[in-house]
Amino acid sequence: AKEQGRNTVHYYSLTLNQSCMSRLKLAGLLQNALENNELTLYYQPKVCLKTGNVKGVESLIRWFNPELGQVSPADFIPLAEDIGLIDSIGSWVLESSVKQSKAWQDQQLNLSIAVNVSARQFQRGEVAAKVVGLLEQYRLSPDHLSIELTETSFMHNAEKTLSAIKQLSLIGINVAIDDFGTGYSSLNYVRTMPLSQLKVDLSFIKNIVESVRDRKLVQAIIDMAHALDIEVIAEGVETCEQLKLLLEMGCDQAQGYLFCQPIPAGQFEKWLQDVSQ
Ligand code: C2E
Ligand code: CA
Ligand code: CA
Ligand code: CA
Repeated sequence: AKEQGRNTVHYYSLTLNQSCMSRLKLAGLLQNALENNELTLYYQPKVCLKTGNVKGVESLIRWFNPELGQVSPADFIPLAEDIGLIDSIGSWVLESSVKQSKAWQDQQLNLSIAVNVSARQFQRGEVAAKVVGLLEQYRLSPDHLSIELTETSFMHNAEKTLSAIKQLSLIGINVAIDDFGTGYSSLNYVRTMPLSQLKVDLSFIKNIVESVRDRKLVQAIIDMAHALDIEVIAEGVETCEQLKLLLEMGCDQAQGYLFCQPIPAGQFEKWLQDVSQ
């Protein structure tokens, strides 16, 4: 059918199933998202449980497309990885986060920004060099930037990822393992990586009030991390009861809708002002 040329495109399209079609469509639109300024970063605070202070923020990408509306990063980040767009999107996220962190420094807001870096970015082996370049370019000190990566990063390319993490940690960048507990053989990573923080996946936090079992599991993770000098951040904290338990359990930081949803930088500055009064 191929030699019949351009006119057969419709034929192909008709035989593609629905999800394949929408994937193609999404890919096409995502290709232009960067240059059309459809991507933006939202920020969500990380709160210190002992002091109640905001320790920093996590930057979370948002895509607003005129045709599709808002598309979730849970949908388009995996797609970007598959179609080779994650490097350009990831670089944009890194640079925008560094810029924002610098802007907050200049406003005397002492906030560190945590950036999500995907497994594929580590495969290219340029993450550490890129970070060093950006810190120099924007004159940002390394303690105002941190990196979050998921356990699956190690599965894809353990050696390159490990070497990048070692380089990042050497220059003073904190590295957090994201979604802790949802991948497999997590303990091996904890053993070999120079990690600063471990983020307990929200699926473990969800039922800690109702479930003794979940509570014990989270307590065990906290104790293990602390024994290794690793801080623990609880993700997806939505209720006061959860917060109270986590404080009793010795968890270091929490993130979740209880405090604040991810919001644009300007809105976040206002939120910060309100809670600091
Ligand atoms: P993640 O890194 O685990 O981010 C946490 C997700 O939980 C975010 O979803 C956040 O909005 C959501 N969340 C925060 N607090 C609560 C809560 O109290 N309850 C519930 N149910 N959810 C809460 P979001 O922003 O939709 O991002 C989804 C995922 O997309 C992220 O998971 C991350 O894996 C990926 N992602 C987001 N931004 C980026 C990025 O800039 N680069 C890369 N590589 N991945 C990103
Ligand atoms: Ca994250
Ligand atoms: Ca997470
Ligand atoms: Ca997640």
